[in-house]
Amino acid sequence: MSRRGVLDAVVVGAGVVGTAAALGLARQGLQVALVEGREPSSWRHDVPDLRVFAVAPDNIALLERLGVWEAILSARAQPYRNMRVWDAAGGGELVFDADRLGRRELGWIVENGLLIDRLWKAALGAGVELHCPDKLIAREVSEDGRSEVLTLASGERLRARLVVAADGADSPLRQMAGIDAPRHEYGQRGLVGFIRHSRSHQSTCWQRFLPGGPLAFLPFADADDGSPRSSIVWSLPDKDAERLLAVDDDAFLAELARAFDGPLGELTGVSRRAAFPLRRQLAATQLSGRMVLVGDAAHAVHPLAGQGVNLGLRDINALLATLSQSGPRDGARRDDDVGASHRLKRWNRQRRSDAAVSAYAFEAINRVFSNDAVVPTLMRGHLLGLAGRTPSMTRALWRHAAGL
Ligand SMILES: Cc1cc2nc3c(=O)[nH]c(=O)nc-3n(C[C@H](O)[C@H](O)[C@H](O)COP(=O)(O)OP(=O)(O)OC[C@H]3O[C@@H](n4cnc5c(N)ncnc54)[C@H](O)[C@@H]3O)c2cc1C
Repeated sequence: MSRRGVLDAVVVGAGVVGTAAALGLARQGLQVALVEGREPSSWRHDVPDLRVFAVAPDNIALLERLGVWEAILSARAQPYRNMRVWDAAGGGELVFDADRLGRRELGWIVENGLLIDRLWKAALGAGVELHCPDKLIAREVSEDGRSEVLTLASGERLRARLVVAADGADSPLRQMAGIDAPRHEYGQRGLVGFIRHSRSHQSTCWQRFLPGGPLAFLPFADADDGSPRSSIVWSLPDKDAERLLAVDDDAFLAELARAFDGPLGELTGVSRRAAFPLRRQLAATQLSGRMVLVGDAAHAVHPLAGQGVNLGLRDINALLATLSQSGPRDGARRDDDVGASHRLKRWNRQRRSDAAVSAYAFEAINRVFSNDAVVPTLMRGHLLGLAGRTPSMTRALWRHAAGL
């Protein structure tokens, strides 16, 4: 079946990044289709999504502009006002404090499922044409070179000026385009779950570096029984992650308490746990003809700085800014070509460079800190302490993480 007319954009993949892209493009008056292989399960207040993100201020501003932040905030979002980072081998501590940085909060902890749910509803309300469940299976350039033709598993063929590949780390679109994306496996997994504890989390993100990898506690809304609760991301060697997924809750909590050794009091309960593989993967380019790669399709980074989804949303923020520079849209008939590659080249250079700097910086930090050799062990507490005692350095680190 062939679709009539040419769409402005087709977004493939309705994770957080793809759905934000479809919504943002539709809000600019473009005709947009969104293709997703899996029907998302609706978000439920009583079953928090294990995958949570620390969303940085620039991306909260994006969600505000997209008109979804209020709906997310009224459902559940936890502000964090402090971050404390220290090393298990001792030394100083790096502290980010909202008051000292002149902010109400440093960012917000939000569930993946809630973000997708509210973005998805807003996208449908903004007129995005949804193809779900359906899968992209082939991509070709039209004969006149002015559009791309995407074939879906249902037999539908979509033509568009711009294709946004938001189809995740194994991106079929990236592979079809032959874009190289070397992958480096860290041999670590991110173990996630919710932990109840006896003392308040004080709206603070806590991160302790251990020889096996960093352990982070991110503040979350109180549990139904009123206990303070945090979400953890524990980066561990593969075999330790497997073992800790398999042990019973009491054994898990005992090991977690030893590893954290932090100020949250007794660890009193744990939810279901899951783990995801940690890798660095950078696509050689984020632009191929009329197609842009965004989110995990373009880059996967170590979660130690909580930047994974933030980098993906920054791809969208920059894309929307680039396209809006081409003039106001009337939403009806436009002759300008949103997918023309000359428009997107600068976007590609900037986004590729931001992703590469982040990926290699996090990797260097992970190498120095997930290590029990003598020299790095002696260095790192000292480095954290030095950064923590130098306000200009703290401020510069914070501004980079916050996307300001
Ligand atoms: C289990 C797990 C837990 C994680 N936990 C954390 C965490 O705690 N903190 C953190 O910061 N990061 C976490 N991450 C990483 C984070 O989830 C990603 O950085 C972020 O979700 C990337 O979003 P995305 O929209 O780019 O891609 P994705 O969320 O991967 O979305 C890609 C979408 O594309 C769809 N798709 C793929 N192929 C096709 C096709 N051919 N046709 C149609 N649709 C297609 C998929 O169904 C999927 O919905 C986790 C990752 C995983 C896998």
